[in-house]
Amino acid sequence: MHSQPAIIFDLGKVLVDFDYSIAAKKIAARSEKAPEDLHAFLGSSPLLVDYESGRLTRQTFYEAIRNAISFRGDLAEFGGYFADIFSEMPGTIALHTELRQRGFKTFIFSNTNDLAIEHVQRDFPFFKNFDGYIYSYEVGAMKPLPEIYSAMEKMCGRNGADLIYLDDRAENIAAGAARGWRAILHESPEKSRQELVKLGVL
Ligand SMILES: [Mg+2]
Repeated sequence: MHSQPAIIFDLGKVLVDFDYSIAAKKIAARSEKAPEDLHAFLGSSPLLVDYESGRLTRQTFYEAIRNAISFRGDLAEFGGYFADIFSEMPGTIALHTELRQRGFKTFIFSNTNDLAIEHVQRDFPFFKNFDGYIYSYEVGAMKPLPEIYSAMEKMCGRNGADLIYLDDRAENIAAGAARGWRAILHESPEKSRQELVKLGVL
């Protein structure tokens, strides 16, 4: 084992909250669809999976959505609406700050896309303070596929119990635990703090 474990954070619903209904309202107003139809369409569309798996670029994702819903704006307008859905989760951000102060290396591990990351980088200063970032659209595989977990292990130079991992989705946690990572299902900052105390890192 390394002397110090690295600590891996999921992004969505752990460090930042998101709400596709905000984007759905703005995009719907410039399309032929009702906001409620678009909400389901954006958040669970196979197109989003393709985009976040790196099989669609920002441009081809935009074109596919534009054609599907008759969106009337350009890519810049679409991208502005699509990515403006995030808000900080201060409790977990404070946990992260504390771990950094104790000298732990920390990493971001996210199923995401380049429009979202550009927005989060621009708007949230906390996001700069990590040692590395693994994004599904760059790796070409989403959690819980094994390829993205190996990419994380390679980036940290650690594996197994030298990795502590927080994520809000049970299937992602299970895939980490199956590789020997010390995985915490994130439900609230308070609960995650208790788990980090048990693991001796806080
Ligand atoms: Mg998440």
